[in-house]
Order: sequence, then C-alpha cells, then structure tokens
Amino acid sequence: MNIITIIGARPQFIKAAMFSQTIKQRQAEGYPIHEKILHTGQHYDYEMSDIFFTELELPAPTWHLGCGASTDEMTQQIAPILRQEQPDMVVVYGDTNSTLAGARAAHQCGIPIAHVEAGLRSFTNMTEEHNRIETDHLAHWLFCPTSTAISNLKAEGITERVYKVGDIMYDAALQIGSIATDTLDKLAISSPYLLATIHRAENTDQIDCLERILLAFAQLSWPIIWPMHPRTKKVISEHPTLQQILSQAPHIRVMDSVGYADIATLEKNAYCILTDSGGMQKEAYFHRTPCITLREETEWVETVQIGWNTLVGTDINRIITAVKNVQRPQQDIAEYGNGHTAQQIVDILCAF
Ligand code: UDP
Repeated sequence: MNIITIIGARPQFIKAAMFSQTIKQRQAEGYPIHEKILHTGQHYDYEMSDIFFTELELPAPTWHLGCGASTDEMTQQIAPILRQEQPDMVVVYGDTNSTLAGARAAHQCGIPIAHVEAGLRSFTNMTEEHNRIETDHLAHWLFCPTSTAISNLKAEGITERVYKVGDIMYDAALQIGSIATDTLDKLAISSPYLLATIHRAENTDQIDCLERILLAFAQLSWPIIWPMHPRTKKVISEHPTLQQILSQAPHIRVMDSVGYADIATLEKNAYCILTDSGGMQKEAYFHRTPCITLREETEWVETVQIGWNTLVGTDINRIITAVKNVQRPQQDIAEYGNGHTAQQIVDILCAF
C-alpha cells in the first residue's frame, strides 16, 4: 500500500511524525506499507519546519515544493505529482491551506483522502474553518479526535467512514513531550512565568487586536516567555507602536519559536499559557497547565467545559482578570484517546 502524506505547517509535522513512526513499525512487522512525504513549503523557516524533521525523526520529504501559502498554487503543483505517483491514498492533517490543497489535488486525481483531525468546527468565518469543512467533505476516511467532532460531521450529513480515534497530538505529548529538556536552565528561568504564543491571522492581521494583547501582557506582573511565530514577529517589526509597548515591558521575553520538546518543557512548567494556538490549548491540558485562549471561540470545547481553558478574546481586562483567577480543575477530560491514535489510524487504513 502506497501513501502520500501532504504537510506544510508546524502542527502537521508533529502529527505526521506520529503517523510515520507507526508506518515504520508496521513495515518492520512485514506489512507492505510505504509512505512518501510531500512538503508544500507553507512553513519554511528552520524553527518552523526543519527542526521538527530532525527532532521528531520525520522522514525527509520526497517533494519539497516551496510554494508559499496560496492554496491554488499548491493544488496546481501537487496534482501532477499525485497523477504520476498514483498512491492508494493521500493523508492530510488539520486545517491549513496545505491540507485543503492536498485534498483538492487528490480529489482531482480520484485518489481517496484520509483526513486526520476531522470534524472540528469553530463556527467562524476564518480561513481554517473553510479549509477543514471542504477537506471533510472531500475525505474518504474522517479521523475525529472527539465526540464533538463526530457530532459536527453528523450535523453536516457526514456519517460514513467516520472514526473516533482520539487526538494524535496526545500521542506526541506522551512520547516526545515527556522528554525533559534543559530549556529552563538555558533561558535562566527560575521564577514562575507565563508562556505566550500568538499567530492566528485574526489576531496578527488586525493591529488593534495585537496591540490590546501586548498592552495586557505589559500590565501583567509575571515574567512572560514568548516564543514568537515569524508572522507575529513580522507584524510587530512593521509597527513602531507595538515595538514601543514591548520595549517598555522588560518582563516580556521574546524569542524565536522553539522545538517541540522545548515547548513541551515550557508548557509543563508554566503557571498558565496564553495562546491563540489550537494545539497548545490541548497541550496545556495534557500537561495539566491552565490555558487562557486569546480567541472568542475554540474547536476544543471540552477544555473550556471542564474549566482547563478560558476564552478571553483580546479584551485587556478579560486577559488580566483571567490570569489573576487561574483555576486548576480537579476533573480530567474524557476525550483525546489513550496515546495510540496513530496506531488506530494506520490499522484502519491497512484494512482498506
Ligand atoms: N510549538 C512548537 N514551538 C513553539 C510553539 C509551538 O513546537 O515555539 C508547537 C506546539 O507545541 C503545538 C504546535 O506547535 O504542538 C501548534 O502549532 P501552531 O500553534 O502553529 O498551530 P495550531 O495548533 O494553532 O494549528
């Protein structure tokens, strides 16, 4: 069985690493399964791409397209490769433009699509929502992390070949995220700190949103460790008012994005996490660190329902109040699987 995995953005490298590892195990057991990786080039900086291939031992891509972020451009470049290779299936992850481009190209070529992290919905108008809805409607196999994801698909009339397999990111958190790194020593962090990451277009592309976030961070008295996404870095570098807020708040420590094991160490040891990342909302829970989400909605509704996650948008007072009132609920979340999501997915695909 020949699989082409199509990836292009940071969270997909992490998820795909778990899948590739399982494929290698099946190969070692003698199962005739082969995977080739196609990297669209959507994320290309060392700290957003290469670092994960090395750290997570993800096989080098057979194709590296260097496409940029345009879905149409990626689709046009992926389709001829799929037409020539004729894999038995294409695997895509999540909600990025690379995900949708992979799904559209596979659909054009009549190749069945497996969508990992299917069924998530934010019920907003953001690009990620459009990407995941279209991908779900094109997919042959829909691998859902949660019961809510299954219900979302049902509401859209998708009930065939829908599997609740847990969250593949939980596999990664248990495996690689449990490796202790010396990042706290290297960064000389000794006091309690907050961990921040911001990268969503709705926060970075609207300067007033980013400004409010920075003003809230500036008013917090905790040290804030902020591994900064290149998109956010670029926006701040283009706006002197934002730079000025940062320069007057020495407790905010901005650095380049870090690797997976290092961010897991930072997540585990933080007092709480301030983020607009989808993945980090769950990782916060996996490491039992409270999360404050700088969005008005989330796809990971369980984290909010049980109280591990608080939605605050970008309102300065709500951000500050949420940090002051951080809670650590006693209750766990009965979703996300048992850390063997990749194995379940591969087993289902092998039965094809
Ligand atoms: N991440 C990382 N280094 C960082 C920040 C985040 O490895 O400096 C990881 C994080 O642990 C999570 C993933 O990147 O697994 C989330 O990716 P991102 O926030 O870019 O995308 P989203 O989850 O919002 O789709």
